Amino acid sequence: MIALDRDSCVLCGLCTGVCPPNAMELTRDELKILPNCTDCGWCVSYCPVGALSGGRYRPRDAATLR
Ligand code: SF4
Ligand code: SF4
Repeated sequence: MIALDRDSCVLCGLCTGVCPPNAMELTRDELKILPNCTDCGWCVSYCPVGALSGGRYRPRDAATLR
């Protein structure tokens, strides 16, 4: 289960661009994780402030891009 720390999230939108099934929706004041999230964990590696955690798989290469 992917977890979002809403207090840390700065709504930059980086995660929404890398989500394979397009399961993240960014509005002006909120990031939503939609029901079609596969819990892959890809987005976790891209969040610049560490607001996302969990997920089944965290790509090693992507983690170095932070
Ligand atoms: S865990 Fe995967 S499917 Fe779910 S929001 Fe993150 S990138 Fe998208
Ligand atoms: S990458 Fe992190 S800070 Fe940016 S919108 Fe996603 S969860 Fe929020």
